[in-house]
Amino acid sequence: MAEKFDRESLVLSIEDDKENLQELTTQLIQIPTENPPGENYYDICRFLEKRLQRSNFSTKIIRAKGEVGDSEKYPRWNFIARHEGKSSGECIHFNSHIDVVEAGNGWNQDPFGGKVLNGRIYGRGACDMKGGLASSIIAAENFVRMHPEYSGAIEISGTADEESGGFSGVAYLAKNGYFCPKRVNHVIIPEPLNKNRICLGHRGVWWAEILTKGKIGHGSMPFLGDSAIKHMAAVLKEIEETLVPNLLERKSSMPVVPEAAKSPSINIHSIHSGEARGVFENVGMPTPCVPDQCVITIDRRFLIEENLNDVKSEIYTLLEKVKERRDNFEYEIKELFSVHPSMTEKTSKIVDVVSQSIIETMGMSPEFVISPGTYDQKHIDRIGQLKNCIAYGPGILDMAHQPDEWVGIEDMVASSKVMLLTIAKLLV
Ligand SMILES: [Zn+2]
Repeated sequence: MAEKFDRESLVLSIEDDKENLQELTTQLIQIPTENPPGENYYDICRFLEKRLQRSNFSTKIIRAKGEVGDSEKYPRWNFIARHEGKSSGECIHFNSHIDVVEAGNGWNQDPFGGKVLNGRIYGRGACDMKGGLASSIIAAENFVRMHPEYSGAIEISGTADEESGGFSGVAYLAKNGYFCPKRVNHVIIPEPLNKNRICLGHRGVWWAEILTKGKIGHGSMPFLGDSAIKHMAAVLKEIEETLVPNLLERKSSMPVVPEAAKSPSINIHSIHSGEARGVFENVGMPTPCVPDQCVITIDRRFLIEENLNDVKSEIYTLLEKVKERRDNFEYEIKELFSVHPSMTEKTSKIVDVVSQSIIETMGMSPEFVISPGTYDQKHIDRIGQLKNCIAYGPGILDMAHQPDEWVGIEDMVASSKVMLLTIAKLLV
């Protein structure tokens, strides 16, 4: 079918806008939005608002008041912009998170300088994911300028707290109707999955705390107490020796990358027991006690082939098995949260259109992947009930959360072209 737009001039418009794209990315990096604690969310929302109002987007800044993480000191602000064409049609939404993880140590560049060096822009959030946000803005701005007569709508959002679960960001907006099939048809999340990769979804997650109980006693006579740490050691041994090998035998049909993440996994996220840490934390010398409680937090990642109830009962069964073997073994489990795996159909229109755009602009076929960890797609899928969502954006995932994080300018240009062609294919 003949396209009603001139592909060449669209692609060229992004080439011509390279400096603009670079400058916008630098400006976004220069607003430090570290989470925790959730700094400067309002400032970045206002910046985005002013920027998109220039292209006649209608904008809203929305606070997730009273939601997880929101406080008077660190309010959780979200930004959403919408531009409507001359007639009705489909709506494509680009969602980026505005928060970045803490800068941390080990940087040679200023983490909030946004410096350009050898074709790269450096800074915290450069690749995860202010470069992606900038690429989508440039694509949308060029589209509405070149095709004012289009049908449908374009939305761009900048949302809070993705790095800490997205509850006051995308989840909040989804609960309030901003991500639902009535309003939005297609969603692209420009996370740094690489310019030729389309991420269809992610594995599932279950977090829980396991507590073992003992009996306090004098440390010089441990036989008079009952060590909760020893009970927990038995749990950890069972996890390592029985559960882990069992998990490694399972393989997903989902195209999870890296390869090792095709199997489910369990991470012992933390362990706490006994007195607070001593000399390392300057709380003085320890007193001699047998610990009567020990808590671990587990982070279990599961496949689309697994069922959440089975994932949970596997842990309960394991604990019962330990209980059979050990005297006075008592435990409790506190479930913290869970996320089901999410996978957009490869046959969906958004996947098809982005694939075509990659082939036409880069001359290569896209790679389809599934992320080992979750991102905001979970809320769009579960709360919003919106199925046509993918992650597609510039940058190399390995750079995310690293010191000297960077995004390549040419990668952003390439992704922005794909985004622009995608919009044109859907709305012209
Ligand atoms: Zn991210």
